[in-house]
Amino acid sequence: MTTFHHLKKLSEQLKESEIAFSAKCHDCSEDTIVEVTIYEDNADTNGGGYWNIEGEDFIKCQPCFNKDPILRNFRKCEVYSRVVGYLRPIKQWNPGKQEEYKQRKNFKT
Ligand SMILES: [Zn+2]
Repeated sequence: MTTFHHLKKLSEQLKESEIAFSAKCHDCSEDTIVEVTIYEDNADTNGGGYWNIEGEDFIKCQPCFNKDPILRNFRKCEVYSRVVGYLRPIKQWNPGKQEEYKQRKNFKT
């Protein structure tokens, strides 16, 4: 269950739509207090940022949110490469092939 679902449940139990909780900021990793107003399927922050993307929660403290209100670098990049005759995500390769991949060099043609 995600933070959003917990907050929504808590909000229903307390009959209170405004909830504050502590979390780590996505940008600076500092503990921060986030005040949110819970709605039917989303939440609004009272300063700072809160995102629930594909079931994962991301928090930004107010200073980081003021600097950059866009959530960046929150998703791991999936790299595909040719293993032996076909393309596969590198993280699915066997350990030996992953080591071999690190030694590969890129050339501009
Ligand atoms: Zn921060």
